[in-house]
Amino acid sequence: MTESRCDVVILGAGLAGAAAAWICAERGFSTIVLEARSRAGGRGFTRHFSGSQDLLEFGGGWIAPWHDRIRHYAKRTGITLRPTHPITEHLVYSGGHVAMSPALETIKADALLHKSGKSFSGSLTQYLDRIEAAPKDRDYVLAWWTISGNGDPDVISASEFLSSCAYGDGRPESMMMALAHTLVPGAGILAERMIASSGATLNLDAEVTAVADGTVTCADGRTFITRAVISCLPLNALASVSFTPELSAPKRRAIQLGHGGQSIKLWLKVKGVRPGILASGGPGGLRWLFAEREAEDGVTLIVGFALADGTLDPDDRGSIERSLARFFPEAELIAWDWHDWIGDPFSRGTWVALPAKESWICNAEIWRPEGRIAFATSDFAPAAAGWFEGAILAGEAAGREIIL
Ligand SMILES: Cc1cc2nc3c(=O)[nH]c(=O)nc-3n(C[C@H](O)[C@H](O)[C@H](O)COP(=O)(O)OP(=O)(O)OC[C@H]3O[C@@H](n4cnc5c(N)ncnc54)[C@H](O)[C@@H]3O)c2cc1C
Repeated sequence: MTESRCDVVILGAGLAGAAAAWICAERGFSTIVLEARSRAGGRGFTRHFSGSQDLLEFGGGWIAPWHDRIRHYAKRTGITLRPTHPITEHLVYSGGHVAMSPALETIKADALLHKSGKSFSGSLTQYLDRIEAAPKDRDYVLAWWTISGNGDPDVISASEFLSSCAYGDGRPESMMMALAHTLVPGAGILAERMIASSGATLNLDAEVTAVADGTVTCADGRTFITRAVISCLPLNALASVSFTPELSAPKRRAIQLGHGGQSIKLWLKVKGVRPGILASGGPGGLRWLFAEREAEDGVTLIVGFALADGTLDPDDRGSIERSLARFFPEAELIAWDWHDWIGDPFSRGTWVALPAKESWICNAEIWRPEGRIAFATSDFAPAAAGWFEGAILAGEAAGREIIL
């Protein structure tokens, strides 16, 4: 079997791995990136909508106005930004426009308190019970939860929701402020270009199975002798790699628990809906839909989110049509496409969502380097965790931390 030597081996070619490669190159290290998939980008996954020329983001897509590092790398690699279509109408399933209820007023106030440092204990369900949210308010909150806490509301911390409401004035719709731009060729392409520009060698179809005393081994038997390793694997994928000597007890426990991010993101091609319409609410299925733009063939591309709670079957036309009809009774579903991030062995989940009782698992302290192995991913990023921006910040920090 082949054996290669280098200064640094980076595990994973997502945006954390790409940023780490960039910094290692700046530091003059010879670097190899090992990626299990046959593409770079990880949860930044840009591909054509099945059977069409429309290039879409099947993983992450939006970047916030304050996400400076991803904007920096987009500029450096010649990637332009597409502003999100302005919202022309907001449909709420319970009817009419969103009326502020006592519960929504409380959420608004609590989100602002959260922003100023107050902590809120418990899961989303416990929080909604505490503020005595009515069923209509719960449905509305769960719609926005599909793009924030995105896990089991009985388990995942309410803080995931409140912190996202705090992007603006504390109302759930404030989350729209973070969805300012997308990258025109796509986030996957950004990762590819960052790695290519760094000069690092990217090895695709290289699933890492073991890291032992300066040797990294892949599933196909290839080995890499290196002076340092930067793991840029998702928290939920770390369990499939063995480390020798074994990692510290808190890291092993955090890996065992993992995070609970489990949303379902779908792209729909629909006739009879104008771009710009936002729809949210409802008792299950696709609870949050945004008519993002026109497709090449003139129909509307809608991005939709559901919780993986069994209320939507993403492979079943009837299940999707029922969600759509709730908001758009006249609309015609032409086609849909999606990627299963929960079943995907190299992500095992969507973006990070912390269980209320285990918020420690993403503390920076836990993820300090061990010997010559550093750790980076958006899942436990020092800032902007859960976002592309967090992945880049984490990858940059790990690239600087590593000592040869
Ligand atoms: C549906 C969805 C929607 C999202 N929406 C947004 C959004 O709008 N905006 C935003 O900023 N973020 C969004 N995110 C989150 C964002 O995509 C992630 O936070 C970010 O891409 C994670 O980057 P990363 O480098 O930490 O991990 P990843 O991108 O997951 O990269 C890790 C890499 O490691 C590889 N890997 C795993 N195991 C192995 C192994 N054993 N050997 C070798 N390689 C391995 C994986 O294949 C992957 O390429 C979304 C995510 C999803 C899933």
